[in-house]
Amino acid sequence: MLPIAVLSSSNTIRKMIKGMLFGFADAICFSSVEELLSYNKKQKIDFLILDRTVGEYEAKDIIKKMKKPLTTLLLVSGKYEATTDKEDYSFILHKPFKEEELREIIAFLNSSLHTNKEKEKIILVVDDSKISRDIMKSSLSLANYKVIEANNGKEALEIINTMDKPPALIVTDQEMPEMNGIELAKNIRNSNKFSRIPIIMATSLFDDINLKKECFESGINKLISKPFSEAIIQNTVKAILESDLPEHHDTKIILFDNYNTTRQSMVSTLNNAGFNIITTDNAKQFFQLTKDNRFNLCLINYTLNDTTGIEAAQHIKKYNNDCPIIIYTAFDNLDSKKDLPKIYKAGINDYLLSPFEIEELVFKIKIWLDYYKTVKDLKEKEQLIRINTTYDALTGVLNRFNTLKRGEEYFSLSKRKNQPISILYLDIDHFKNVNDTYGHNVGDIVLRKFASVISSNIREEDIFGRIGGEEFLVILPFTDKAKAILTSNKLLKAVSDIRFDEIKDLHITTSIGLAYYDKNKDIKIFDQLLALADKMLYKAKESGRNRVVSL
Ligand code: GH3
Ligand code: MG
Ligand code: MG
Repeated sequence: MLPIAVLSSSNTIRKMIKGMLFGFADAICFSSVEELLSYNKKQKIDFLILDRTVGEYEAKDIIKKMKKPLTTLLLVSGKYEATTDKEDYSFILHKPFKEEELREIIAFLNSSLHTNKEKEKIILVVDDSKISRDIMKSSLSLANYKVIEANNGKEALEIINTMDKPPALIVTDQEMPEMNGIELAKNIRNSNKFSRIPIIMATSLFDDINLKKECFESGINKLISKPFSEAIIQNTVKAILESDLPEHHDTKIILFDNYNTTRQSMVSTLNNAGFNIITTDNAKQFFQLTKDNRFNLCLINYTLNDTTGIEAAQHIKKYNNDCPIIIYTAFDNLDSKKDLPKIYKAGINDYLLSPFEIEELVFKIKIWLDYYKTVKDLKEKEQLIRINTTYDALTGVLNRFNTLKRGEEYFSLSKRKNQPISILYLDIDHFKNVNDTYGHNVGDIVLRKFASVISSNIREEDIFGRIGGEEFLVILPFTDKAKAILTSNKLLKAVSDIRFDEIKDLHITTSIGLAYYDKNKDIKIFDQLLALADKMLYKAKESGRNRVVSL
């Protein structure tokens, strides 16, 4: 959203404008000139809505103090005839104004901002024919770009070297004296400062497949055929410079390509499409980067000289299993397609045959990112469902179904192995009183605390779950009665030692019914053991609570 500074000493005005612009523009409000100026030092302000006077300052003096070029909207009261200094402001609005009036101005600002931004973009047109340059220039100027010209590749390089800010894009011809388009591209790609400028080549040799290949290898992003229509050149430039795709700043892409020229042209394409991209030109670094980092997508030039595409893919699959891999390769390498089974087997998801179109590259990247995002979302959902159906929502310990299931499994294992097993049926004493005295919320806190204390007082191998309400079950595999009594006493103490920060006089105790199985006992199924424990629990309650009773 468009950020707009609002300066007014009236709180009502500031609030009203913020409200009117809600969801439409981002109003940053200031009540004093000092506040605005100090913000302006750090952050660029393009638009300012202001009152005629703020504190002791007049609006036009405030604007002067801002120094930078600024679009302003002056708010005047009905009684002011805003004629004398009209030129000082971009817009004037009479109070009281309607929301639509304000929004109309902001919408206009928004569109003019867009045009201004395009105006800031410089395109270098390189062609030895003045007629060609003129056609190109008029098409691009119409689309609001600023055009500068060069006669040939050599001149283009000289011009770029003198520029403070490199051009946003180069459109070049192929055949020119001194230095042709391909040579120019190679020079740009191998330079330190300008290697990522996107390059479009306009050529009458568009159908020459060898030229296409050479262009790709020298780092040209896009070929268009000459003669071209105004719409073609405008749309191509727009596709490269003004990506309509949402920005993917949180998407990390790694690109591995030994060759400077192709690597840099890929980067310029992808940067302009809004992708966040990390590059490497050697296998050692690629292996290290993919081992240490997580990536959302990997792009590899299949033709490598320090490893193979297959090996690179296998490596990334090993460390980033859910990272889609796309390779690109020249016609001849994959022409027979005999490598394809190997490629898919290595986990490579897709391939592009170079030279390929930018649109195809961006499209494929998007498809695979979407696909893996969907898979990831599904996995997360599945995990959530699993947690929800495995654990008790309140206490986080195993739920009834899973506790009993584990009990059955361990019971039959014990029988098979002729080993003892003990179970403890726990029920918090007078828990109803806790709810009645302190409320249900405190009751829930008590249940959580109880569960966490029990969890931390049993062994890793023991099973602990909530059976219902304030009833819990501890399963002690391979544990005989004597050891189970020791554990029970430990738990009784741990529970009675629980203190609650919020409520000093709240104490709880639990009763435990202990049942065990050993080879001398005739217990056939787990349910029988559970029923026995329940019976013992009842006895523990009956005989005074806060104790363990076993059969
Ligand atoms: P006893 O010593 O005989 O076990 O008495 P008691 O009060 O603990 O037993 P009773 O079965 O009468 O009451 C259990 C209470 O536990 C009643 C119920 O409202 C409460 N309870 C069950 N589940 C929850 C829960 O998830 N949260 C809260 N706060 N209370 C619960
Ligand atoms: Mg109960
Ligand atoms: Mg109870």
